[in-house]
Amino acid sequence: MYAVNTPLILQWLYPTLTWHRNRAEKRIFLTFDDGPIPDVTPGIINTLKIYGVKASFFCVGENIKKHPDLFDSLIENGHRIGNHTYNHLNGWKTVDETYLENIARCQQLTQTNLFRPPYGRGTRSQYARLQQEKYNIVMWDVLSGDFDSRLTPEKCLRNVIKHTRNGSIVVFHDSIRAIPRVTYALPRAIEHWLKAGYTFGVL
Ligand SMILES: [Zn+2]
Repeated sequence: MYAVNTPLILQWLYPTLTWHRNRAEKRIFLTFDDGPIPDVTPGIINTLKIYGVKASFFCVGENIKKHPDLFDSLIENGHRIGNHTYNHLNGWKTVDETYLENIARCQQLTQTNLFRPPYGRGTRSQYARLQQEKYNIVMWDVLSGDFDSRLTPEKCLRNVIKHTRNGSIVVFHDSIRAIPRVTYALPRAIEHWLKAGYTFGVL
């Protein structure tokens, strides 16, 4: 199971990671993990363009390598890029040297100071080494659950709207599994937030 809202205990245990931004500003930070891939990413870019929204994309190195045109399109459209490892490694199951090498390999393509661990799973020593390298490690406070095939698109939309507030960092995925939910929820959530007076920022 997973929580839509990140449990506060995690935020207390890992205070040096970025869980959200300024709670005093009516701004939301949309993030997309695991792309870029042809089946989903162009549609997301298009939706964001329609509403004039910029977002942050935590890309997987091997997907950038396979789809460099999509990666260029993200940058051309003014979106922010984050490193999400080269092979989507789980930090809990990977020794530090291998993990850091994989991130460095991705970094040759991403050239960014933002990093998000796949599955939200890294160890204290991995985080410490990455922070020494000046990475801002970006987690989230709202998980859309768009990857969960048991979740209806309508419920996914209700989840993100219910839990998102000032300064929230919201996770969606540009992945095959997320398609039914992300394509339904994203435009509707953006319309809801725009009507409610929110603006959108990049990390
Ligand atoms: Zn991921």
